[in-house]
Amino acid sequence: MNRKEEILRLIEEGYSTAKELARYFNVSLMTIYRDLRELEEEGKIVRRHGNVELRREEELRENVCAVCGKEIDLRLAFIYMLRGGKKVHTCCAHCGLIAYKNINRESVEMAITRDFITCNPVNAFASTYVVGGVTTPCCKPPAFVFAEKEDAERFAKGFGGYVLGFGDAVAKMEELMRMGQRVDISL
Ligand SMILES: [Zn+2]
Ligand SMILES: [Zn+2]
Repeated sequence: MNRKEEILRLIEEGYSTAKELARYFNVSLMTIYRDLRELEEEGKIVRRHGNVELRREEELRENVCAVCGKEIDLRLAFIYMLRGGKKVHTCCAHCGLIAYKNINRESVEMAITRDFITCNPVNAFASTYVVGGVTTPCCKPPAFVFAEKEDAERFAKGFGGYVLGFGDAVAKMEELMRMGQRVDISL
Protein backbone atom coordinates (compact mmCIF):
# COMPACT_ATOMS: atom_id res chain seq x y z
CA MET A 1 0.00 0.00 0.00
CA ASN A 2 1.44 3.40 -0.88
CA ARG A 3 1.27 6.39 1.42
CA LYS A 4 -1.74 7.97 -0.24
CA GLU A 5 -3.79 4.79 0.09
CA GLU A 6 -2.71 4.56 3.70
CA ILE A 7 -3.73 8.17 4.27
CA LEU A 8 -7.22 7.36 2.99
CA ARG A 9 -7.45 4.49 5.44
CA LEU A 10 -6.26 6.64 8.32
CA ILE A 11 -8.81 9.34 7.48
CA GLU A 12 -11.43 6.63 7.54
CA GLU A 13 -10.21 5.72 11.00
CA GLY A 14 -10.59 9.25 12.23
CA TYR A 15 -7.40 11.11 11.41
CA SER A 16 -8.49 14.53 10.28
CA THR A 17 -5.56 16.93 10.14
CA ALA A 18 -2.34 17.16 8.16
CA LYS A 19 -0.43 17.45 11.42
CA GLU A 20 -1.65 14.11 12.71
CA LEU A 21 -0.84 12.45 9.42
CA ALA A 22 2.63 13.98 9.26
CA ARG A 23 3.30 12.70 12.75
CA TYR A 24 2.04 9.22 11.88
CA PHE A 25 4.29 8.87 8.84
CA ASN A 26 7.12 10.86 10.36
CA VAL A 27 7.36 13.08 7.29
CA SER A 28 7.20 16.84 6.85
CA LEU A 29 3.90 18.71 6.74
CA MET A 30 4.79 19.77 3.20
CA THR A 31 4.93 16.16 2.11
CA ILE A 32 1.53 15.47 3.61
CA TYR A 33 0.06 18.61 2.07
CA ARG A 34 1.25 17.43 -1.31
CA ASP A 35 -0.37 14.02 -0.82
CA LEU A 36 -3.57 15.64 0.39
CA ARG A 37 -3.65 18.00 -2.55
CA GLU A 38 -3.30 15.09 -4.94
CA LEU A 39 -6.01 13.13 -3.14
CA GLU A 40 -8.21 16.19 -3.35
CA GLU A 41 -7.56 16.57 -7.05
CA GLU A 42 -8.41 12.91 -7.51
CA GLY A 43 -11.71 13.67 -5.82
CA LYS A 44 -11.11 11.26 -2.96
CA ILE A 45 -11.10 13.71 -0.09
CA VAL A 46 -12.46 17.14 0.69
CA ARG A 47 -10.98 19.75 3.01
CA ARG A 48 -13.32 21.54 5.37
CA HIS A 49 -12.32 24.09 7.99
CA GLY A 50 -8.75 22.80 8.08
CA ASN A 51 -9.83 19.17 8.44
CA VAL A 52 -9.71 16.47 5.82
CA GLU A 53 -12.63 14.18 5.16
CA LEU A 54 -13.23 11.35 2.80
CA ARG A 55 -15.39 12.32 -0.07
CA ARG A 56 -18.72 10.59 0.25
CA GLU A 57 -19.95 8.32 -2.49
CA GLU A 58 -22.92 10.56 -3.27
CA GLU A 59 -20.59 13.47 -3.88
CA LEU A 60 -18.41 11.35 -6.11
CA ARG A 61 -21.39 10.36 -8.19
CA GLU A 62 -22.28 13.99 -8.66
CA ASN A 63 -18.97 14.41 -10.41
CA VAL A 64 -20.11 14.53 -13.96
CA CYS A 65 -18.50 16.24 -16.92
CA ALA A 66 -19.47 19.90 -17.31
CA VAL A 67 -19.41 19.50 -21.09
CA CYS A 68 -20.95 16.13 -21.94
CA GLY A 69 -22.52 14.98 -18.65
CA LYS A 70 -20.58 11.71 -18.63
CA GLU A 71 -19.51 10.31 -15.27
CA ILE A 72 -15.92 11.24 -14.61
CA ASP A 73 -13.19 8.62 -14.63
CA LEU A 74 -10.54 10.12 -12.39
CA ARG A 75 -7.68 8.80 -14.50
CA LEU A 76 -8.82 10.82 -17.51
CA ALA A 77 -10.38 13.80 -15.72
CA PHE A 78 -9.45 17.30 -16.83
CA ILE A 79 -10.13 19.97 -14.23
CA TYR A 80 -10.00 23.75 -14.29
CA MET A 81 -9.40 25.37 -10.93
CA LEU A 82 -11.00 28.80 -10.79
CA ARG A 83 -10.37 31.67 -8.46
CA GLY A 84 -12.45 31.41 -5.31
CA GLY A 85 -12.16 27.63 -5.10
CA LYS A 86 -14.60 26.80 -7.85
CA LYS A 87 -13.77 23.98 -10.23
CA VAL A 88 -14.90 22.91 -13.65
CA HIS A 89 -14.68 19.13 -13.96
CA THR A 90 -14.59 17.51 -17.36
CA CYS A 91 -14.31 13.83 -18.21
CA CYS A 92 -11.25 13.94 -20.46
CA ALA A 93 -8.95 16.21 -22.44
CA HIS A 94 -11.47 16.27 -25.30
CA CYS A 95 -14.07 17.96 -23.08
CA GLY A 96 -11.39 19.96 -21.28
CA LEU A 97 -10.25 21.53 -24.54
CA ILE A 98 -13.83 22.24 -25.57
CA ALA A 99 -14.68 23.77 -22.19
CA TYR A 100 -11.84 26.26 -22.46
CA LYS A 101 -13.65 28.64 -24.76
CA ASN A 102 -16.66 28.74 -22.44
CA ILE A 103 -14.91 29.59 -19.21
CA ASN A 104 -13.80 32.97 -18.06
CA ARG A 105 -10.07 32.78 -18.69
CA GLU A 106 -9.20 35.44 -16.18
CA SER A 107 -10.67 33.38 -13.40
CA VAL A 108 -8.68 30.25 -14.28
CA GLU A 109 -5.90 29.63 -11.80
CA MET A 110 -4.77 26.31 -13.17
CA ALA A 111 -5.81 23.29 -15.13
CA ILE A 112 -4.92 19.79 -14.07
CA THR A 113 -5.10 16.50 -15.83
CA ARG A 114 -2.99 13.36 -16.04
CA ASP A 115 -0.22 12.17 -18.25
CA PHE A 116 -1.74 9.45 -20.42
CA ILE A 117 1.18 7.10 -19.89
CA THR A 118 2.34 7.67 -16.31
CA CYS A 119 -1.01 8.84 -14.87
CA ASN A 120 0.87 11.54 -12.95
CA PRO A 121 -0.95 14.85 -12.47
CA VAL A 122 0.28 17.48 -14.92
CA ASN A 123 -0.23 21.15 -15.59
CA ALA A 124 -2.62 21.02 -18.54
CA PHE A 125 -1.42 24.34 -19.96
CA ALA A 126 2.20 23.18 -20.14
CA SER A 127 1.53 19.72 -21.55
CA THR A 128 1.69 18.31 -25.05
CA TYR A 129 -1.49 17.03 -26.68
CA VAL A 130 -2.26 14.46 -29.29
CA VAL A 131 -5.57 15.42 -30.85
CA GLY A 132 -7.43 12.96 -33.05
CA GLY A 133 -6.18 9.51 -33.94
CA VAL A 134 -7.66 6.07 -33.92
CA THR A 135 -8.10 5.13 -30.25
CA THR A 136 -10.89 6.68 -28.19
CA PRO A 137 -10.71 6.12 -24.43
CA CYS A 138 -13.55 8.56 -23.71
CA CYS A 139 -14.96 11.23 -26.03
CA LYS A 140 -14.58 11.58 -29.77
CA PRO A 141 -12.46 12.96 -31.37
CA PRO A 142 -10.02 12.02 -28.62
CA ALA A 143 -7.29 14.11 -27.04
CA PHE A 144 -4.39 12.69 -25.05
CA VAL A 145 -2.10 14.53 -22.68
CA PHE A 146 1.61 13.97 -22.21
CA ALA A 147 4.11 15.66 -19.95
CA GLU A 148 6.90 14.85 -22.41
CA LYS A 149 6.69 15.93 -26.03
CA GLU A 150 8.63 12.85 -27.12
CA ASP A 151 5.98 10.60 -25.60
CA ALA A 152 3.29 12.49 -27.51
CA GLU A 153 5.24 12.11 -30.76
CA ARG A 154 5.79 8.41 -30.19
CA PHE A 155 2.12 7.93 -29.39
CA ALA A 156 1.00 9.84 -32.49
CA LYS A 157 3.32 7.72 -34.62
CA GLY A 158 1.48 4.63 -33.49
CA PHE A 159 -2.07 5.84 -33.18
CA GLY A 160 -2.27 8.94 -35.34
CA GLY A 161 -3.38 12.42 -34.36
CA TYR A 162 -1.82 15.88 -34.22
CA VAL A 163 0.93 16.74 -31.73
CA LEU A 164 0.17 20.21 -30.33
CA GLY A 165 0.57 22.57 -27.39
CA PHE A 166 -2.48 23.57 -25.34
CA GLY A 167 -3.59 26.61 -27.39
CA ASP A 168 -3.25 24.83 -30.72
CA ALA A 169 -4.98 21.77 -29.30
CA VAL A 170 -7.99 23.91 -28.34
CA ALA A 171 -8.15 25.27 -31.90
CA LYS A 172 -7.66 21.85 -33.51
CA MET A 173 -10.39 20.29 -31.38
CA GLU A 174 -12.79 23.02 -32.44
CA GLU A 175 -11.88 22.44 -36.06
CA LEU A 176 -12.36 18.66 -35.80
CA MET A 177 -15.69 19.13 -34.04
CA ARG A 178 -16.90 21.43 -36.80
CA MET A 179 -15.86 18.87 -39.40
CA GLY A 180 -17.54 16.10 -37.42
CA GLN A 181 -20.72 18.07 -37.21
CA ARG A 182 -20.86 18.55 -40.95
CA VAL A 183 -20.53 14.80 -41.43
CA ASP A 184 -23.34 14.20 -38.97
CA ILE A 185 -25.64 16.62 -40.77
CA SER A 186 -24.92 15.13 -44.19
CA LEU A 187 -25.84 11.70 -42.83
ZN1 LIG B 1 -17.07 15.12 -21.16
ZN1 LIG C 1 -14.68 12.46 -22.28
